Amino acid sequence: MRLANLNDHPVLVVSSPDRGEGGLVTIVDIGTSMGVTFDDVFARWDEVMGLTEGKVGSARTTVQSALLGPPSPRPRQVFAIGLNYAAHAIESGLPIPEHPTTFTKFPTCIAGPYAEVVLPSGSVDYEIELVAVIGRFTERVRASAAWRHVAGLMVGQDLSDRVVQMRPPAPQFSLGKSFPGFGPTGPWLVTPDEFDDPDDIALACKLNDEVVQASRTSDLIFSVGEIIERVSAITPMLPGDVVFTGTPAGVGFSRTPPRFLAADDVLESTIEGIGTIVTTFR
Ligand code: ZN
Repeated sequence: MRLANLNDHPVLVVSSPDRGEGGLVTIVDIGTSMGVTFDDVFARWDEVMGLTEGKVGSARTTVQSALLGPPSPRPRQVFAIGLNYAAHAIESGLPIPEHPTTFTKFPTCIAGPYAEVVLPSGSVDYEIELVAVIGRFTERVRASAAWRHVAGLMVGQDLSDRVVQMRPPAPQFSLGKSFPGFGPTGPWLVTPDEFDDPDDIALACKLNDEVVQASRTSDLIFSVGEIIERVSAITPMLPGDVVFTGTPAGVGFSRTPPRFLAADDVLESTIEGIGTIVTTFR
């Protein structure tokens, strides 16, 4: 099942193009048929998952995918994991972590799949990430049971102003990664059952048509399940919460010379089994 956001209504995606932008998506508005909104769709996730052909009705609509918003637009908490691929920890000049390096992206930075982001500086970097949305109350949940707590997966970018992030004396990960638009997500949320193996998914990021990052989530140091176990041992995770799982190697600041985002850049982020989000900059 695929859940998307059309004009702040939860909608099911019935059919979609391979590449989102400019393509047509056929949707069913469950906001209208179920009386569900983005304030309660994840709290009522079992009900949504139980939807059948008969229950959603036949009111299909075809819309431009460019109109879609973020699949979890107002998470109460956003968790993000740093240094979660070994090659990225090495390129960052930091040791492989023994515990997930966890920070927040403040929820107001969440944006949709075709966001235009205003660059606050010349030191903004890209980070493609698999992003999970929590689908039930999650406290002290074991990794082995964690997938049952995931509503679905989406493509995300953990955009980061490296100067603000690294400002001394102590790094400011959360602030440097929370400018408006710094959390583009989408194009829809795909439930875990749609993947052959939700722990082994290819992801790749293109900057102006050049592949700059490519990896698989089987290379994560802390898998989605392990992240949920470690985080929920400390902090309850709530329906609709968003989890950025970390970025693979190839980010701009570790290049020689560094490569930061500039006006008119086009960033395309693709995850196997989900789709592509396209972020532009000015
Ligand atoms: Zn990141």
